[in-house]
Amino acid sequence: MKGYVNSIESLATFDGEGIRYAIFLQGCNMRCHFCHNPETWCGSHVYDQYTPKELLNKILRYKNYFGKSGGVTFSGGEPLLQARFLAELSKMLKQHDINIVLDTCGSVFNDDVKKVIKLCDLVILDLKYPTEKEYHSYTRGSLKRTLEFLDYLETKKKDTWIRTVIVPGISDSTKYLEKYLNLIKPYSCITKYELLGFHTMGFAKYQNLGITNPLESTPALNPDKLIKLQNYVNSKLKNE
Ligand code: SF4
Repeated sequence: MKGYVNSIESLATFDGEGIRYAIFLQGCNMRCHFCHNPETWCGSHVYDQYTPKELLNKILRYKNYFGKSGGVTFSGGEPLLQARFLAELSKMLKQHDINIVLDTCGSVFNDDVKKVIKLCDLVILDLKYPTEKEYHSYTRGSLKRTLEFLDYLETKKKDTWIRTVIVPGISDSTKYLEKYLNLIKPYSCITKYELLGFHTMGFAKYQNLGITNPLESTPALNPDKLIKLQNYVNSKLKNE
């Protein structure tokens, strides 16, 4: 069995705690209008292939950097499109006591996905839009499916962070954020809600790949505004 990998960041600090070996798996079943990794979409990029053992051997070279909180992050694309590969790799990583973070949009669910969830230490779940209509029109995905995935994480008491990309002109208001907050309120498995600002750094990739960029005239989110919105979310969650 081989896994298809778009790219690897061996000393990442973003997707989870500590120093992380971030594996960006090839392929995605979504088409988010704010995507800054369109090169991970199916068939749009030349990718590397590894068996679980080959990738494990690469990861082990970095194990000393992980310390107590670092480890491996599965990201993408949508990593769970390759859940069987990840379940196998996760088993091997756990034999070496390596922390695992799964960064997903929760659009794939099957027995292999359950195995990955069981073995990972943290799930970072993207909550893209708060209504089914917007979710579908801006991502081609389903809010219902993401919430069902979150329901499963809740039943398993899996440590979960929620992430949302804030797009200027759509989701950059406290009124709009209330819709997300109402959705996540019932879930005790959620330990963090993180907002990410829409940025324009991936725009050149669309041009290079010859793909239409639906947000080409949208500016990046002002960083001060992002801080204000994050503070708003934090204060609301603290008072619950
Ligand atoms: S799920 Fe991620 S990789 Fe896939 S289209 Fe959306 S933002 Fe891009």
